[in-house]
Amino acid sequence: MELTLFNTLSRKKEVFQPIKSGEAGIYTCGPTVYAHAHIGNLRSYVFPDVLKKTLRLLGYQVLHVINITDVGHLTSNADEGEDKLERAARQQARSAWDIAAEYTEHYLRDLRRLNIDVPPDLPRATGHIPEQIAMIEKLAAGGYTYDTEDGIYFDSARFPDYGRLARLKAEGLQEGSRVEMGGKRNKTDFALWKFSSADAQRQMEWESPWGKGFPGWHIECSAMSMKYLGERFDIHTGGTDHIPVHHTNEIAQSEAATGKPFVNYWLHGEYLIVGEDKDRDKRMGKSEGNLLRLQQLIDEGYEPLAFRYLALNAHYRNYLNFTDQALKAADAALMGLRRLIRGVGGEAAGAAEAPSEEAQAPVETPKDGREAALLADLCDDLNTPRALATLWTALRDERLPAGKKLALAGFAEGLLSLNLFDFSRLEAQEAVPDVIREIAEQRWAARQAKDYAESDRLRNLLAKEGFSVQDGKEGYQLLKFS
Ligand code: AMP
Ligand code: ZN
Repeated sequence: MELTLFNTLSRKKEVFQPIKSGEAGIYTCGPTVYAHAHIGNLRSYVFPDVLKKTLRLLGYQVLHVINITDVGHLTSNADEGEDKLERAARQQARSAWDIAAEYTEHYLRDLRRLNIDVPPDLPRATGHIPEQIAMIEKLAAGGYTYDTEDGIYFDSARFPDYGRLARLKAEGLQEGSRVEMGGKRNKTDFALWKFSSADAQRQMEWESPWGKGFPGWHIECSAMSMKYLGERFDIHTGGTDHIPVHHTNEIAQSEAATGKPFVNYWLHGEYLIVGEDKDRDKRMGKSEGNLLRLQQLIDEGYEPLAFRYLALNAHYRNYLNFTDQALKAADAALMGLRRLIRGVGGEAAGAAEAPSEEAQAPVETPKDGREAALLADLCDDLNTPRALATLWTALRDERLPAGKKLALAGFAEGLLSLNLFDFSRLEAQEAVPDVIREIAEQRWAARQAKDYAESDRLRNLLAKEGFSVQDGKEGYQLLKFS
C-alpha cells in the first residue's frame, strides 16, 4: 500500500518514496526543556508516532530522532532575546543543567504516558557542540557566514533559495528596521554562534574558533539530524510555527553546507487551541498564559490516553479545539471502544490479540478488508479520525463475527496505541465497594419493612457516592453513574 503525506514543501499530498529502499529516517524537533511541555506541545509528538507505526507496518525500518533543545533557543523565535534555559536558571536561581535534566525527564514521562514510542536516545544540543562548530566551519569556508559584535551569522542573501519552505517572498526579505537588524546584513540572517556577553555570566558556554559562546537554535537541529540520519533524510516534523523561521533556516544552512537537498518531506502539525470557537489567537502557548499540562488532566482524574484519543480524533493538519467537554467525550469514546472489544471476547483474547510492545516489531500486515481499510485511512496522510471511524463502524457492525472484530481491534491497537485491550478502568467503574453494597442491602431491608423515609435516606446516600438503585420484584440492581 502506498503512503501519501502532505508535504509542506510542495503544499501537496505526495506518495512517500524513501531515499534508501525499505528504510525511513524521521527527525522531530523536540522540546525546549526550560519548563513543562503543555498539551499543545504534546500534540505535536502524537502524529509522528502514528507515522512511525504506519511506516513500520508497511515494512520500513524506521530510524526516528527526537532532539532535546537545552541551549540556544532564544525567547523570541526570530533569534533575539535571552536564552530560555539561562533565563529560567536566573529566575529560579538554579543550575541550567539541572533544569534541563528535570524537564527532560518530565517530557519523557509524558510521552510514555501517551504511548508514544520513545527512541532509545534523545540527542541533546549541549551534547553536540563539536558537531555544530564543525558545521559552522563548513559554512564559513563556503562563504556563507559573517561576524558581528554578538556572533557569527548566516548570510541568507547568499542562499538563493532562502524561504522556499515558507514561500517567503524574496523582495523585502533582506530589509529590516534598524532595531531588528542589530549588526545583521539582512533581516532574515540568523545566528549560528553567539558570543557570551561580557556583563552576564552564562552557565552554558563553550570555546569555539570564534570565541566563547553558544550555538544558535537552528544549527543544532541540522547538526544532530545529519549526524544520526545522514546529510539527506526522508521526513522532518514539527509544529506549523516552525515553518517560517526554524525550518526555513535549517534548510538554508544544511543545503548550503552540503550542497544537497536536505529533507524530502516536511510535515507540520497544526496548533491545539483553547476554547470552542475557531479563534486562532487562542493557541495554547507558554506566553499566552493558558497552559495545561498532561499532569493536570491526570490530577483531574483523566487517563492520559483520553488525550491521545482526542488528538487522534482530529487530523494533525487541523486545529484541535481543546475543551473540557471535548476531553470528556474523548474519554467516553475510548471507554466505549474498550467496552465493545471486551464484549466480543477481548478479555480472553487480550493477550493474544494485543500486539507486542517491542519497539521495532512490525504489527502484522492486514489480513482482512477492514484492516486494509484502516491502514488505507492512515496511509492517506495519517487520517486518524477516519481510522477511528473505521474501527467504530466495524465494532458496531452486527453482521461482523466477533473474531474479525477482535483481530481488527488488535490491528488498530498496533497503530493507534490506545490500550484498547486494557479493561481495568471498565472493571473499576463497574465494581461496587463493600460499604456501598452494605448500604444498598440496608435500604432494601428498610423498603421491605415499608420504612420509606429510611429507604429514601439511604438512596440519597448512595446517590452521593455515585450509585443509583433500580428496584425490581425480587431485588434491586446497583448502577454506577459514569
Ligand atoms: P518548544 O518546546 O517550544 O520548542 O515546542 C515543542 C513543539 O510544540 C514544537 O514542535 C512546536 O511547534 C509545538 N507547539 C507549540 N505550541 C503548540 C500548540 N499550541 N499546539 C500544537 N503544537 C504546538
Ligand atoms: Zn528543530
